[in-house]
Amino acid sequence: MDLTSAVSVLPKVGPKYAKRLEKLGIKTVEDLLMYVPSRYKDLSTVSKIKNVQIGEVLTIKGNLINAKNIYTKSGRKFQIAEVSDESGTIQVIWFNQPFLIRNLRVGEKYSLSGKVDFFGNKKAIISPDWENIEMGGKTLHTGRIVPTYPETYGISSKWLRGKIAICYELLKKGLGDFLPPESLKELKLTSLDKAISFTHFPESFDVINTGHERLAFNELLFHQVKSLVRKKEWGKNKVSHKLQMEETVLQKFITALPYTLTNSQQKAILEIYSDLKKDTPMNRLLEGDVGSGKTVVAAAAAFMSFVNGFQSVFMAPTQILAEQHFNSLSEIFAKFKIRISLITSGAIKKELGKTDIFVGTHALIHKKVQFDKVSLVVIDEQHRFGVEQREHLIQKSKERKYLPNVLTMTATPIPRTVALTLYGDLDLSVLEELPKGRIPVTTWLVPPEKRNGAYDWIKAELLENKVQAFIICPLIDVSETETLKDVRAVSTEFEELKKIFNSYKVGLLHGRQKTKEKENVLTSFRQGKTDILVATPIVEVGIDVPNATIMLIEAGERFGLAQLHQLRGRIGRGTKKSYCLVFTESKSKQVVTRLNALKKALSGFELAELDLKMRGPGELLGTKQHGYPELKIASWGDTELIKKSREFAEKILSGEEKYQKNYMLQRYITL
Ligand code: ADP
Ligand code: MG
Repeated sequence: MDLTSAVSVLPKVGPKYAKRLEKLGIKTVEDLLMYVPSRYKDLSTVSKIKNVQIGEVLTIKGNLINAKNIYTKSGRKFQIAEVSDESGTIQVIWFNQPFLIRNLRVGEKYSLSGKVDFFGNKKAIISPDWENIEMGGKTLHTGRIVPTYPETYGISSKWLRGKIAICYELLKKGLGDFLPPESLKELKLTSLDKAISFTHFPESFDVINTGHERLAFNELLFHQVKSLVRKKEWGKNKVSHKLQMEETVLQKFITALPYTLTNSQQKAILEIYSDLKKDTPMNRLLEGDVGSGKTVVAAAAAFMSFVNGFQSVFMAPTQILAEQHFNSLSEIFAKFKIRISLITSGAIKKELGKTDIFVGTHALIHKKVQFDKVSLVVIDEQHRFGVEQREHLIQKSKERKYLPNVLTMTATPIPRTVALTLYGDLDLSVLEELPKGRIPVTTWLVPPEKRNGAYDWIKAELLENKVQAFIICPLIDVSETETLKDVRAVSTEFEELKKIFNSYKVGLLHGRQKTKEKENVLTSFRQGKTDILVATPIVEVGIDVPNATIMLIEAGERFGLAQLHQLRGRIGRGTKKSYCLVFTESKSKQVVTRLNALKKALSGFELAELDLKMRGPGELLGTKQHGYPELKIASWGDTELIKKSREFAEKILSGEEKYQKNYMLQRYITL
């Protein structure tokens, strides 16, 4: 057995247990050893029986004198036993565990941990944890600081403690550590075997953090190494077509625009141009708040590709967004002879050879476009930031070893620490400002008692200012995709809202509608024929309807701040004043404080950082909705450790830092 072994090598772990463990993310012995407790119980005070005091939580060790089931007249069951050591005897009581008596052996030695209280008029230990210590050895479930693990059906903490102890005993000699002692010292980290021991068998509360910190470092380091290796691999490719362009040609593009570019946009364009001139393919992430103007930056890149006689490809996550891109690009390039075609699920109408820019969904583009003449691929708003799309491109051009330049765009405000760790293979350009002249959106938090007032206010707004409104209902299941239950919730709300706004036209949009149906709903809204659009949040993040100036969000507490901010980005796009109404039934002070942060003029990045701080790691809601993966041990808020792991990963990959040949790290490096 070694760290890579499947858990089924352990005694009494068959397929049934292996399957249950998989639910906890545990497949190998290593996973088991790295499984971090959610909390610890202090059962380390061992006392002589004579000295125990009412109210204390402690451990006693002694011989079991007797044990029996008691059935009361009222039908209740409890178990009563007596345990004695050289100082005295005490009662032990459990409730409703008749099977327990069978497992206890009178005459043998036991260790019991629990709270001391009166039972009848005598002192007793009530419902203690217990274990047989007849054979000696260290206690596992009592008499120490005892870890409690995240559990699942059929896997208890007691069970996990047993298996982890076995693994640790068998492996601690051969654990090894990929960090040599000098590095440990420099990084101020403890060794791997100590970290595991501190985590599962801590002798004081102080060492627990020391142990967790080391395991968290490992987790971060693996992510860092992985992304740096990806970067290195990407860098081995050659660009399919090398591009160049005179400064004056760029000026032509810029002066043709109906507005002046923001400083951020100009900077991003220059960063992209400097990538495009190289012979290694660009792999850049363009991050910018909703409305920050990413499209025109990508268009500038496509312009360079066009000038050099090559094609570009824009990939959008949905057909509707693809259409929107098609419209924006057609506007931006109106003064140039650039041929743009929208790829629909029907046949490609225009001939491929006669197109300069293809726009379509990811799926369609991969299927229909030949990449031979394509020098630029723009991937917009994709979950997980285009990892899959890039992977696909790499696969496609495997033998040829050349790749198009890739620009991935996202409005998800990924904090820099997260971006560097998970997407460290990408170069980063950030649009930090919004174009001038936008009227800031006013945000209100609406408690239940003001709900009707808010509806009346919306009715008046719609009537007086001829504007439109979004109403967003949250997903019930916090998964990334919409479920039937979610659709039912939004549909029920839709029926309600139709009654409330009975003199207005109300539309419904959710992810489970057919494409055609969605298109009709959206077209009607865009053309102003629908006044109110009721939708789920995952629908069409990029939709652009300037006349919509009201955004009502139901159950605001269910969203991350960054996500609320993104939803709010759907309004405030035109010349009229916009309002965001966040409804919440929650009275929790923490929720209200968190949501109130939306009223301040914070950027999406600042709100994302705030989310990290206020929600902490391990809270599914926060991270899942951001679209970046959950860390098991480390926290995205731990900037110091993230920095340390980043620096160390860089040293490892540059060959500067020695690390021991150990499979743990090796498997990422030899990827
Ligand atoms: P996003 O970053 O959310 O994709 P878009 O590219 O859709 O943003 O741009 C949002 C709107 O802002 C568009 O209507 C676009 O024409 C406009 N826009 C982009 N850049 C500028 C600018 N520098 N000044 C004024 N308006 C701009
Ligand atoms: Mg966009």
